[in-house]
Amino acid sequence: MADDDGHHNAAGQGGPVRESDAEVQSRIRAGTVKLYELEKQIGPADAVRVRREYIEQETGTTLKNIGTFSIDTGRAATRNCENMIGAVQVPVGVAGPVLVNGEYAKGKFWLPLATTEGALIASVNRGASAITKAGGAEVRVLHDGMTRAPVFAAKSVGHAKEVADWAAAHEKDFAAIAATTTSHGQMTGLSTYVAGTSVFVRLEFDTKDAMGMNMVTIASAKIADEIAKATGARLIALSGNMCADKKPAAINAIMGRGRSVVAGIALSHELIEKIFKTDAKSMFEVNYRKNLVGSARAGSMGFNAHAANVVAAMFIACGQDAAHAIDGSTCMTTIDPTDDGVYVSVTLPSLPVGTVGGGTGVDTQQECLKILGVAGSGTPPGANAKKLAEIIAAGVLAGELSLIGALAAQHLARAHQELGRGVKR
Ligand code: NAP
Repeated sequence: MADDDGHHNAAGQGGPVRESDAEVQSRIRAGTVKLYELEKQIGPADAVRVRREYIEQETGTTLKNIGTFSIDTGRAATRNCENMIGAVQVPVGVAGPVLVNGEYAKGKFWLPLATTEGALIASVNRGASAITKAGGAEVRVLHDGMTRAPVFAAKSVGHAKEVADWAAAHEKDFAAIAATTTSHGQMTGLSTYVAGTSVFVRLEFDTKDAMGMNMVTIASAKIADEIAKATGARLIALSGNMCADKKPAAINAIMGRGRSVVAGIALSHELIEKIFKTDAKSMFEVNYRKNLVGSARAGSMGFNAHAANVVAAMFIACGQDAAHAIDGSTCMTTIDPTDDGVYVSVTLPSLPVGTVGGGTGVDTQQECLKILGVAGSGTPPGANAKKLAEIIAAGVLAGELSLIGALAAQHLARAHQELGRGVKR
């Protein structure tokens, strides 16, 4: 609570009066206090305001909207965001309900999507409607494993092979070391790679309901020390980029990283005509020539129409690490012709998601997780994160159906025009 001079006392409870905001700001200017030290000196709520006002003064701006928010600064400014000055508000809308027949997600779900891309939610909504009318998306988690791959420098290529062999032979010991660092995570796999004198040890973990990057980094640090000590190889970096975190990488697309998920739906000729105003053949051809041939010709790692759109919007809404939208972009969309229409599927080899830790505890993001019924730990642990992965995959399927359907409808319309028959609707 502040008096007229901007002087504050602890929690407005009559505690010791601290210097005014202006006095703190002049100390920042004088360099006697750093911007990032404010939380420790005056508490998170005051720190965020004082820092924002300082930035307003320095940049000649008014940050009224950035300064208006409901999330708890005590949590956000200390766990999620350094040098916090407020919040950028991303509009959040819903698509659905979409019927999901997963192993973890069962029933109808409203999908929260945080986006500024107009038409995205409308598009997902149309796909969700098709999925629900068609009986629900069948969804499965194929694989579950968050990875970290430290890189070591060996003395020679022969030494590099010795280091890799030694690490491979000690997988069980490493799992025991990992167990001393986390009560939830379990090391589940190890693979080694050598490039000249560089040795990469890719460690894989079941991280239960956590996305797990911090968890596996802490465990990997202890294991990497052991490898260096025992083999004489020098630990160069805890992340050697064969993890591979936040870069599009074939290793993730092939081996999986985070949750690997597949979703599929059978659409009848009647439903395709009714919802997408097109036909099975046109949808098949759009997918074949665009998502498969076009992506191959472009050397793309994503064989889909716009999977990252849905992944990014749901990740932002649900407090996931937004940089991992890049993994969503490696989705492969397939369309199989069937006697009754088409079977459409999306395969997401790498979906790093969690329902505890990271940004999942930020108040608004936590509410989005609650909409999906996945906030916090699952029963058994891991069930909520897998449920979230299944729901996101169903959302991606909805987005793919809608865009492929729209492209196919135009393609069909053009074909009819070219044949001089007008557009059949
Ligand atoms: P975290 O917030 O660091 O940790 C989550 C912790 O929650 C777990 O370690 C676990 O503690 C505990 N937990 C409680 N209930 C759990 C349950 N049901 N299932 C699993 N764990 C449970 O989150 P994180 O997921 O490990 O890491 C996510 C964060 O890492 C994000 O903020 C992301 O931006 C960031 N990140 C870090 C790196 C890095 O290199 N460090 C890289 C990319 C992203 P116990 O382990 O004690 O069991």
